[in-house]
Amino acid sequence: MKIIQSPREMQEFALAARREGKRIGVVPTMGFLHAGHLSLIDAARKRADIVVVTVFVNPIQFGPQEDLEQYPRDFEHDRRACEAHGADVVFAPRPEDMYAPDRSTWVEETRLSQGLCGALRPGHFRGVTTVVAKLFLLTQAEVAVFGQKDAQQALVIRRMVRDLNFPVEVVVSPLVRDEDGVALSSRNSYLSADERERARVLSRTLRAAAPALRSAGLEALEAIREAMALEIGKCADRVDYVEILDADTLEKPTLDTREVLVLLAAYFGKTRLIDNTLVQVNWKEACSCAN
Ligand code: AMP
Repeated sequence: MKIIQSPREMQEFALAARREGKRIGVVPTMGFLHAGHLSLIDAARKRADIVVVTVFVNPIQFGPQEDLEQYPRDFEHDRRACEAHGADVVFAPRPEDMYAPDRSTWVEETRLSQGLCGALRPGHFRGVTTVVAKLFLLTQAEVAVFGQKDAQQALVIRRMVRDLNFPVEVVVSPLVRDEDGVALSSRNSYLSADERERARVLSRTLRAAAPALRSAGLEALEAIREAMALEIGKCADRVDYVEILDADTLEKPTLDTREVLVLLAAYFGKTRLIDNTLVQVNWKEACSCAN
């Protein structure tokens, strides 16, 4: 397995591989890899000849008050995990090699990135789309794997790829949870035992909401949402949002909605966690049956 630090070397390697007809798959990460990340590497392995895992704590997606400095890092662990999962390249650039001091170009999605985490973390998604566009160009990937864990991010990336005609197939891989139901996240390492115990409320509430969403009608959504927020508020130190939205548009669901995305963000101590679930619904049919 090759370790590449220089962006120029990464691009030269990728262009040479492409000239040999190799299909490159990329898995963008911020490192401190866990089983969720590894499932993305496995998904990429199935779809590409060369799998590039990028390990880069991207400074431009962190707000000034956020945890850029404290973000957990363990390159040796990441290197071994990538090797064990059959990655071909780990691309781990230095921030100063990715961003010139006088850089003045951004890639920005302006619709799906506005609400939810976009509203609470101004500039976050602009930082994500900019770095992902750069990683696509540097790795020459034809397939890129992202996690459903960051559901809004996956939608924003898909939209960017469509709108800017990136020749990249975007694959979104299922959310991986720990045994206690908590969604795996590098940020879980910040949690105390008590915070971890309380954080279980997120997945518990999502699990309970799914049957209610399927059986209730569109008009019951707000009551379900409020009940979830109340439940989470009992365990979390702060609830950022509880939203039930159309899974394709991130707009308010309508009778035509076929799948809803239930999205949560809450603080446990100083740690902000997100979680979500997809629920198939068929309110239109339920509605016409009742009539
Ligand atoms: P991160 O290192 O947190 O920026 O995540 C890198 C990629 O891994 C993103 O596409 C995430 O959505 C994905 N990811 C993170 N946690 C999980 C998880 N628990 N299950 C599946 N994918 C995940």
